[in-house]
Amino acid sequence: MTGITILGATGSIGKSTLDVLALHRDKYRIIALTANHNVERMASLCQTHKPRYAVMANEQAAKQLKGRLSGQEITILSGMKALEEVAVLDEVDFVMAAIVGAAGLLSSLAAARAGKRVLLANKEALVMSGDLFMQAVVENNAELLPIDSEHNAIFQSMPHAFRDGLKQVGVERILLTASGGPFRTIPVNELATVTPEQAIAHPNWEMGKKISVDSATMMNKGLEVIEAHWLFGASADDIEVVIHPQSVIHSMVSYSDGSVLAQLGNPDMRTPIAHALAWPQRIESGVAPLDIFEVGRLDFEKPDLERFPCLTLAYQALRAGGTAPAILNAANEIAVEAFLEERLSYMQIPQIIDSTLQAIDVKSVNSLDTVLESDSLAREHANKYLHNL
Ligand code: NAD
Ligand code: MG
Repeated sequence: MTGITILGATGSIGKSTLDVLALHRDKYRIIALTANHNVERMASLCQTHKPRYAVMANEQAAKQLKGRLSGQEITILSGMKALEEVAVLDEVDFVMAAIVGAAGLLSSLAAARAGKRVLLANKEALVMSGDLFMQAVVENNAELLPIDSEHNAIFQSMPHAFRDGLKQVGVERILLTASGGPFRTIPVNELATVTPEQAIAHPNWEMGKKISVDSATMMNKGLEVIEAHWLFGASADDIEVVIHPQSVIHSMVSYSDGSVLAQLGNPDMRTPIAHALAWPQRIESGVAPLDIFEVGRLDFEKPDLERFPCLTLAYQALRAGGTAPAILNAANEIAVEAFLEERLSYMQIPQIIDSTLQAIDVKSVNSLDTVLESDSLAREHANKYLHNL
């Protein structure tokens, strides 16, 4: 039996992961589940899946969970350190890193440092600490398998030896597909008044609120460009974003002989999750087979950078290197939260991020402390900007 910890079990990726695991109770044993504040959902997950450990973000939520689960044999912990503890337990082989945002960095990194198979959904962790994270993977013989559907598709379309260098294995370019989100075609002058409800209504995917807003601004694709840079050793110039509104091709790899390999499937996260769990084997995911006749056609467009300034900001941060991606990510997290709380308009999201990138000095990344310091300076600046609006 393979032991699994799910960091972020109450979220959208957490749910899809539990759905896949439920099909394979003979292969996988759930050791730990973690959540932020949602006691009700966590109690119900613990009753169904019987993990040995549950972690809540704070003591009060943990206490409430204990109340709900009295009589059940389970250890309930709380706080950031506990997230790391359940990621590195001996009986844990795989860690699903599915906490959203910078909050997932330390526990995702702890799993890599402990040499686990890390199923990485928490792209923000890699964006913030790419160099350190990849180093931790190599030094500790961890396995890093991408859950993000695009990166999982790229992984599936890459030769096994891609870590020798992309040019070495004949890879010319990565074609990173994007749906274009809910605002791909609305007139640009209407963007000024779009609401959080409109932004989180994604045409093809059902996801958490933060990534849904990121998909609307295309900051999600920007973060994914940076994620692809670290996962596959690709430079900014090697990664091209392609708008593909059907979300059936999940990304492509273009080779020096003219071949282009792609991975296709219905837009359902259970496919990349099942892939990463079973790799290099295959298991059932519960996803319906792709009906290519119903799909009928596949369209492609170049992204409109005036409509999606966040994409340009992310390329800038990647090219600047060092802590610039961590600064970008922190400012974006503050901006998205403020937009969701209606303290900021949609068009101001890129403005805050741009201002923060210009204001905070980029440092070279030599330790986690450098990353965390840039993250907190960027948050401070972004919050000040918000305050002065
Ligand atoms: P979500 O908001 O649905 O779930 C987030 C999870 O993280 C929840 O379990 C929540 O309790 C936990 N969490 C949030 N803040 C926390 C904190 N401060 N401390 C501890 N736990 C905390 O998000 P999601 O859509 O499942 O996305 C999770 C990650 O996966 C994100 O990084 C996202 O970019 C990535 N991802 C998601 C999808 C998708 O389809 N949902 C696709 C690709 C990548
Ligand atoms: Mg994605």
